[in-house]
Amino acid sequence: MQPTGNLHIGNYLGALKTWVLMQYDREPIFCIVDHHAITVYQEPKELQKKIEDVAALYVASGIDPKHAAIFVQSSVPAHVELAWVFTCVTPFGWLSRMTQFKAKLEQQESVGAGLFCYPTLMAADILLYQAGIVPVGEDQAQHLELTRAIAQRFNTLYGETFVVPETRLPAVGARVMGLDEPMEKMSKSATGPNHAINLLDPPNRIRKLIGRAVTDSKPGVDFDDPGAGVRNLLNIFQAFSGWTDEQMKENFAGMRYGDLKKAVTDMVVSQLEPIQKNYEELTADRGTIRQILKEGAERVAPIARQTMDLVRERTGLYRG
Ligand code: AMP
Repeated sequence: MQPTGNLHIGNYLGALKTWVLMQYDREPIFCIVDHHAITVYQEPKELQKKIEDVAALYVASGIDPKHAAIFVQSSVPAHVELAWVFTCVTPFGWLSRMTQFKAKLEQQESVGAGLFCYPTLMAADILLYQAGIVPVGEDQAQHLELTRAIAQRFNTLYGETFVVPETRLPAVGARVMGLDEPMEKMSKSATGPNHAINLLDPPNRIRKLIGRAVTDSKPGVDFDDPGAGVRNLLNIFQAFSGWTDEQMKENFAGMRYGDLKKAVTDMVVSQLEPIQKNYEELTADRGTIRQILKEGAERVAPIARQTMDLVRERTGLYRG
């Protein structure tokens, strides 16, 4: 994840929750991508703090730092080194088709070349560790497809080197929408005051935000054909609760919007409460988080080194 702002429930339901659930099935590696963050100007002092805040939120949400490696991208320079190699094997046209780049281009007056090359760095983040599965939200599916294509292209050009990873989207919660504009995905960079529920928002703010969320003009929940805002609230509830489709229908079909909003609020507040409590305890002493990040980087560095040795051998970069 990028340490560019408060993590919101879209980040949690789209990615972090799946990471927590899957972590003991594998040898997980979780990165905080500060090189990605600076594709857009970041206040330097703020960025330091935000990196540690995101790490604390990973752990507070249930990532076990004894089992999983948690580290900061720029602590392992091989990410940038491999990204350059990928920038060289990636056709310009592939990057031009990335919808996230096109959307950001429209939002900003001036765009750095780093934003254009962003997906090659993301491919490096993944392929450096020969990752088999990458659990992400739906907005990253296109970048993951590109990552797969880059791995295949490199393998064709230079010989079998990279594992071609699988994208894993959650069944529910892969695309959480803005509360104020339910046709747009919930995003850290959106400016509307009623747009996103952040993981650290207190209960009264969550209540207010959900209370103001856009619904539709029907009298109650039309479960088979809800408007975008109502569908979003139902999705948020289902993703947090883990309820089945049948349970959802039985409980919510025909419900008045005031009652729906109360149920969603209670669910979100109760699920975020333990995360917030853990976060407070963890950040009381920043030394613990810094130690976790240091150890994480030390654990992944040998894997990165091994991959880069292979890349140097395959591409003919100087090893003398
Ligand atoms: P980012 O905010 O780009 O650093 O994204 C971190 C992770 O959160 C990625 O796996 C995204 O796919 C996921 N994510 C971001 N926004 C949403 C959203 N609105 N709904 C679901 N997943 C999201």
